[in-house]
Amino acid sequence: MDKTPKTAPDAADFANIRDWVFDLDNTLYPHHVNLFSQIDKNMTAYVQELLQLEHDEAKRLQKQYYHEHGTTLQGLMLNHGIDPDGFLEQAHAIDYSALLPHPELGAAIRALPGRKFIFTNGSVPHAQAAARALGILDDFDDIFDIVAAGYLPKPAGETYDKFAALHTVDTKNAVMFEDLPRNLVAPKALGMRTVLLVPRNLDTVVIERWEKFSDEDDHIDYVTDDLTAFLSGLKFA
Ligand SMILES: [Mg+2]
Repeated sequence: MDKTPKTAPDAADFANIRDWVFDLDNTLYPHHVNLFSQIDKNMTAYVQELLQLEHDEAKRLQKQYYHEHGTTLQGLMLNHGIDPDGFLEQAHAIDYSALLPHPELGAAIRALPGRKFIFTNGSVPHAQAAARALGILDDFDDIFDIVAAGYLPKPAGETYDKFAALHTVDTKNAVMFEDLPRNLVAPKALGMRTVLLVPRNLDTVVIERWEKFSDEDDHIDYVTDDLTAFLSGLKFA
């Protein structure tokens, strides 16, 4: 069986899609915008202040929590009982000016038949601010954030179940766009189509990565470095 994810969208694969689900960071805007590095710095500063650590030690612990729990927030809640709202507010106190209006992306999203959701491990205010800066906020029906998820982040299967139940999403007729491969495992198991966003300018890396397929990559149907081109390629417009 050929496990190679396709790069060009095959419209027939998407003909039954009624719900279009998008991760936010590094998916609706590209990795090279580097917005997440600001959030990352804020989270390190939060850990540093909370636990009175040196910068490097705070950063190490932050990454440890991220890897162990899916988000820094979840690690901080479980290990230190922090208030999630204060954390989310501080983490997302960033400059959104690097995000510019993207009318072509908006038009491509509007053309998709059915509902469109943002499904993020971040907060609603962060998703709103980013989508507003991109000029695409009004193109979405709803935002499912880490608060709605009860602070249990993707890739936890329960969180996808919660999302699907809340919005009565028939997962067999839905697609998920994500930049983290592990966050596509649960959607695929639920019968969703899966599209992995990869950074541009890393073509060689991407090719090398995707040339070496393993059983672990079974859950990725498509890979693209250009969301707008991918959606436009479905020719719903
Ligand atoms: Mg992301």
